[in-house]
Amino acid sequence: MSYSELILLLVIFFLIVLRVFIRKQSSLNRVNELRSFLKQIIDGQSVEIKVDGKMDEVTEVKSLFLDLHRKMENARKDLEENYHKLQLSNLTLEEKYAQAYTLQLIQEEIGRELDSNQLLKKTLDILLGVFGSRRCMIYMVDENQNLVLKEVSGVIASNPLPAIIPLNSDHIYARSCNERRVFTDYNEKDVNEQIKQVGSIVVPLNGRHSCLGIMVMENDMARLTNQDLMDFARLIAQELSLSMENAYLYDKMRKMAIHDGLTGVYNRMYLMNYMVDIFEKKPQQVSVIIFDLDHFKMVNDKFGHLAGDMVLKTTAAIVQKMLQNGILARYGGEEFVMVLPEVDPELAYFIAEKIRCAIEEHEFISEDGVRIPVTLSAGLASYPIDSDSYEVLLQLADEALYEAKNSGRNRVCVASSKSNY
Ligand code: GH3
Ligand code: MG
Ligand code: MG
Repeated sequence: MSYSELILLLVIFFLIVLRVFIRKQSSLNRVNELRSFLKQIIDGQSVEIKVDGKMDEVTEVKSLFLDLHRKMENARKDLEENYHKLQLSNLTLEEKYAQAYTLQLIQEEIGRELDSNQLLKKTLDILLGVFGSRRCMIYMVDENQNLVLKEVSGVIASNPLPAIIPLNSDHIYARSCNERRVFTDYNEKDVNEQIKQVGSIVVPLNGRHSCLGIMVMENDMARLTNQDLMDFARLIAQELSLSMENAYLYDKMRKMAIHDGLTGVYNRMYLMNYMVDIFEKKPQQVSVIIFDLDHFKMVNDKFGHLAGDMVLKTTAAIVQKMLQNGILARYGGEEFVMVLPEVDPELAYFIAEKIRCAIEEHEFISEDGVRIPVTLSAGLASYPIDSDSYEVLLQLADEALYEAKNSGRNRVCVASSKSNY
C-alpha cells in the first residue's frame, strides 16, 4: 500500500469515527430534550409540541406522553370528583341515619306518652335539641276554633307571643293550620313579616280529620334553608300529631270512665275511689251530703223523660257551681253525693241548705213553657263526729236522707242525733 493510499484510508476512518461521534451526540441531545419535556409535564408546566413537517420519533414519543398525561389528568379529576360526591353522600347518609335514629328516639319517647301536656313538653325539648332552635312553641286548636299557646321552651323572654290566635284570622300560624302547610321565611317572603323578623319554621300538626295545631321553631336563618331539616320537622310533626290524637282519645276515655254521661259530674266509681284517697290522707274532718230529688218519678210521668233529664242536668250544674272544695258525684238515678274534705258539719249543713234553696227557687221550664216544680231532700253525715269509716258515713247520710223524706221532703237532715243545727 502506498503512502497516499494509507493517508486516504486514515482520512476515511477519521470521517467514520467523526460521524459516529456526531450521531451519538445528537441522540444524546434528543434524549435530554425528551427528559426536560417530561420534567416540564411532571412539574405541571404548560408544554406544547411544535411540528414542522413530518413528525420524528422523539416528537411522536412526546406527543404520546402528552396524550397519556392528559388522560391520566382527566382520570384523576374524575376520581377526585367522584370522591367528593361520595363524601357528600356519605355526609347525607350520616345525617339521614342520625335523623332516623332521632326519629326512633322520638317515637319511643313520645309514642308511649298519654298525658297530652307531658307530650307537648317532651316534644318541645326534642325540637330545641334537634334544631338548635332559639325558641320553640306549640299552639293547639281549642273547642272555640282558636290556636292557643300551650307550651314554650328556649329563650322565653324574647319577642312577646300571642296567647290566642283565631283560626279564621290571616295570621301565619292560623294559615299554616288551615292550609295544612309548612311556612318559612323562604317560601313566603312577601307576606310573612312576622316570620321574617325571627327566622321561623311553622309546621302544622295534621290529624286524621283536622289540623290539631302547629309547632313553631325560631331558628337562625341559615339553618332554615336546609330542605332536609324541613322534611325532618314534618316527620316529627307527624309523630306528634299521631301521639296527640292518641293522648286526646285516652283523655276522652279516661274522662268517660270517671264521669256520668248525662250530667257530666263524677260517677259512683270515682266517688268511691275519691273517698278512699281522702281518708288515706288522714283528714281532720270530712262531710258527706246525699241529695235526692223529691217525687222525681212524677216529673218524668208528668213532663216526660226528656224533661226529667233536663232537670237532672240543670240540678247537677247548679250544685256543681256552688261547690268550692271537694267533689260532686251522681250516686244513683236522681241521687247525688257531695264530699267535702275539711268541712265541719255546721258549714256542711249551711252548704246543703243553700243548695236546697237554690233548687227550690230555680225555675225549671219544660219544652211547653210550663214551670216544673223541683225540690230536693238531703242527708248529711260527718267524719269524725258520726263515723270514721267512709262506707258508714255514706250509709248514715242515706239514713238521714230517708229521715228527710219521711219528715216531709225539701229539707236537710243530719245523721248524728247529737248534732242539731
Ligand atoms: P222520692 O221523693 O221518694 O225520692 O220519690 P222519687 O219519685 O224521686 O223516687 P223514686 O225512686 O220512686 O223514683 C226515681 C225516679 O228517677 C225513677 C226513675 O224513672 C227516675 N230516673 C232515674 N234515672 C233517671 C234518668 O237518668 N233520667 C230520668 N229522666 N229519670 C230518671
Ligand atoms: Mg227521689
Ligand atoms: Mg232516689
